[in-house]
Amino acid sequence: MTIKKDLIGKPVANSILKNLKEKIYLLKQKDIFPNLAIFIIGQDPSAQYYLNNQIKKGAEIGLNVEAIRLPVNISESEFITQLEMKNNDPKINGIMLQMPFPEQFDQSNIINHLNPEKDVDGFHPINIGNLVLGRDALLPNTPAAILELIKYYKIETNSKNIVVLGRSNIVGKPIANLLIQKNNTGNATVTICHSHTKNLPEITKHSDILITAIGKPLFIKKDMVSEKSIIIDVGINKLIDKKSKRGYRYVGDVDYEDVYEKIQLITPVPGGVGTITTAMSLANTVKATLKQFGY
Ligand code: NDP
Repeated sequence: MTIKKDLIGKPVANSILKNLKEKIYLLKQKDIFPNLAIFIIGQDPSAQYYLNNQIKKGAEIGLNVEAIRLPVNISESEFITQLEMKNNDPKINGIMLQMPFPEQFDQSNIINHLNPEKDVDGFHPINIGNLVLGRDALLPNTPAAILELIKYYKIETNSKNIVVLGRSNIVGKPIANLLIQKNNTGNATVTICHSHTKNLPEITKHSDILITAIGKPLFIKKDMVSEKSIIIDVGINKLIDKKSKRGYRYVGDVDYEDVYEKIQLITPVPGGVGTITTAMSLANTVKATLKQFGY
């Protein structure tokens, strides 16, 4: 009999959404109607898909999602003017900036203009600063999704050696910082690796938990993990696959089939962390709303 080793995202996301629906119901009893505004520039198909998914998921739990669709030729200053209108609109509780942005935009400048109390992506320096300090913050969605997965599957992090592969501002750095906090999903000893790390297999092999966020398809093979490895694969990579109907498929940073027999537990791709991530901006909108109304 094959032992099931998959850490599936769907039950985690469903439990988050169910909890949010209950909170939103209670807020509505108090005449509070949470609203999320999503800025989307241009016609990028995956951004459109993500937006429609957010609108649908929001509707299922009673949260209104408003799309602000802007043309690709919008100037940065005009965009900031539009953003500030939503910053100051008391009916809007959360704001999301759907990537990709036009190349000429200075992303840091735009994020600096976002009201940190409405920053449901958790990208504003105030939110990142509070995260590092272990204070209450709107957390970036993917690291928050990883914490939800850890809680749901009761994965022990206390005193564990965790290797985080990747040091991006949206995944690697924040999740590493969250895992060293003094709390139930922290207290780990964390090693952060990146493209300049030497002897990577030696480091990854000796981890209890391996979190991969590098964007390199099937990069982690069985010689880089051990029998005790719990793997959280954040990577979402499009791989050409002539055998599949679409001509491609999505895979993680981990060669799932190669490592599966050897390891303890693993998040599949698709169907793992990504499934939970989409629920986290809605969770942040509810969190922001509660805070804005003093709860
Ligand atoms: P970035 O491209 O911003 O960062 C990649 C990181 O990986 C960098 O730190 C880079 O190192 C490191 N890296 C690249 N190649 C190697 C290598 N060969 N060995 C060691 N380290 C390496 O990526 P993101 O964090 O934005 O995304 C990572 C992956 O996660 C992507 O596949 C993305 O699609 C996916 N993703 C999934 C989400 C989800 O919800 N499941 C959400 C967000 C992203 P260096 O800094 O030295 O360049």
